[in-house]
Amino acid sequence: MPTTVREYTGSIRDTVKSFWHGLSITLSYLVRRPITVQYPDRTTLPVRDMLPPRYRGFLEVDASICTGCQACERACPISCIQISLEKDPQNPKQRVVTQFDIDEAKCMFCGLCVEPCPTGSIQHTREFEGSQADLRNLVIRWSDPLHPFPVYKVDKAAEYLPRVELGTLVRAKLAARAWDAPGPRFLPPEPPAAPAAPAAGDATPAKP
Ligand code: SF4
Ligand code: SF4
Repeated sequence: MPTTVREYTGSIRDTVKSFWHGLSITLSYLVRRPITVQYPDRTTLPVRDMLPPRYRGFLEVDASICTGCQACERACPISCIQISLEKDPQNPKQRVVTQFDIDEAKCMFCGLCVEPCPTGSIQHTREFEGSQADLRNLVIRWSDPLHPFPVYKVDKAAEYLPRVELGTLVRAKLAARAWDAPGPRFLPPEPPAAPAAPAAGDATPAKP
């Protein structure tokens, strides 16, 4: 508490000074150029091209160099990835991947599945826009029983095949919504609805 007139007036002066100091910063924005960016239609570049190169967005699988080793599936701590393999009916020495689902709605983009991949088949991209009305539609299916892909045999290759340009495949998936195609889903189907209770007037009279 101020005890003298001098302290009292000094307190008023400090209050007015700090008030104008704060307000001057706010007022200075009235004469600056706005920096708000209208997203997504008025950016100078696609937003993905402005993200850092190591940004961890949607996962992408290059089927042409996937060995079907399932290391990525085992590495995922929250079971986002589900892979199934079968023998090729035309060639018993060849295995095919009949299911390769990644639940992007559940994924926490930690990158643990990318680390053990021996060929760099599974990678994060800088794609992040995939809003869906139903979360189950964010299960991206990189294979299905109707279109299985043969596993890549590293030991018989002279060298690793080059990977397709990162982002190309997942952009095609996003554009075509290819994971909406019919086939088994990674998530279990919805349980059937319980039968409606009969109305009071519909009750079947008990037999005598
Ligand atoms: S980024 Fe992490 S959470 Fe997502 S699929 Fe890979 S390991 Fe699982
Ligand atoms: S994406 Fe990589 S780690 Fe996963 S199954 Fe294919 S080769 Fe193995």
